[in-house]
Amino acid sequence: MFFRNITYKVKVGMPRFKSKKNYNSIKFTMPRSIGKLRKNGKLYLHGIGELRIKISRDNIGVFSYVIVKRINKKYYAFLCCDIPYSEFKLPPSTKEVGIDLGLKYYAVYSDGTVIDNPRNFQKEQKKLRVAQRSVSRKKKGSSNRKKAVGIVRGIHEKIRNRREDFQHKLSREIVNTYGTIVVEDLNILGLSKGILAKHVNDAAWGGFLSKLSYKAESAGRLFIKVNPSGTTQRCSRCSTVVAKALADRWNSCPACGLSVDRDLNSALEILRLGRSQSRLTQAVTSNVLDEATSSNTGG
Ligand SMILES: [Zn+2]
Repeated sequence: MFFRNITYKVKVGMPRFKSKKNYNSIKFTMPRSIGKLRKNGKLYLHGIGELRIKISRDNIGVFSYVIVKRINKKYYAFLCCDIPYSEFKLPPSTKEVGIDLGLKYYAVYSDGTVIDNPRNFQKEQKKLRVAQRSVSRKKKGSSNRKKAVGIVRGIHEKIRNRREDFQHKLSREIVNTYGTIVVEDLNILGLSKGILAKHVNDAAWGGFLSKLSYKAESAGRLFIKVNPSGTTQRCSRCSTVVAKALADRWNSCPACGLSVDRDLNSALEILRLGRSQSRLTQAVTSNVLDEATSSNTGG
């Protein structure tokens, strides 16, 4: 995280050492210590014994390793399995989508689908502020303060779990539906100044895009990242620059008359860039192939 923040040119502090209080984990990698799921639904780990567990998904194969983590007084077992690559492949789809990630909505697709921001985050944020204030009122080192710190951690954890859950579900849905997925390359965005408002959600978007990217790859989908500069300003139909301030919600193009919502215009522009990018790579590959075959027949 520390190094990533540097490449993003965001102000950071020094990396913090993780205190034993916050976080503990053990990784079981030796075949004998990995253990197994017992028929009674308990997890058996060598050297620890049987643990009662709640399983969040079925289809557990043979473990390649198991990590037991303690996060804020709760224990989580991560059962990691090797699953053949082919099992993630999806039947091909000709559907294409450009996705604009935004502040007003979480995402707008080029086919007009709008994904709302998960509202419950705001409620949790409010609870968090209240809990943090209560910590600051408690005496340092007191047991009341410890208790209050525990509450703050619990809320952080809940927010994180919800965000992860939301991102996993949304990225899964996109990969299942579309064969070609085009997004903005946020690494480029991070370096370009002047679109500051977009930085607000950087971290959350980065996590979402990486989930989308690996799911798309293992499903055999075409995943394209395009240069984000100008995607909000250009008209998606004729590429004329239609200048907009952040508050301007509409793209009315004086040149071709295209009149659409600002975010939808961006999503369409992202899709257009992705299409021309994939055509380029296809052209290059077929040229290379042509040359290869012609030199083969020539020789
Ligand atoms: Zn236009």
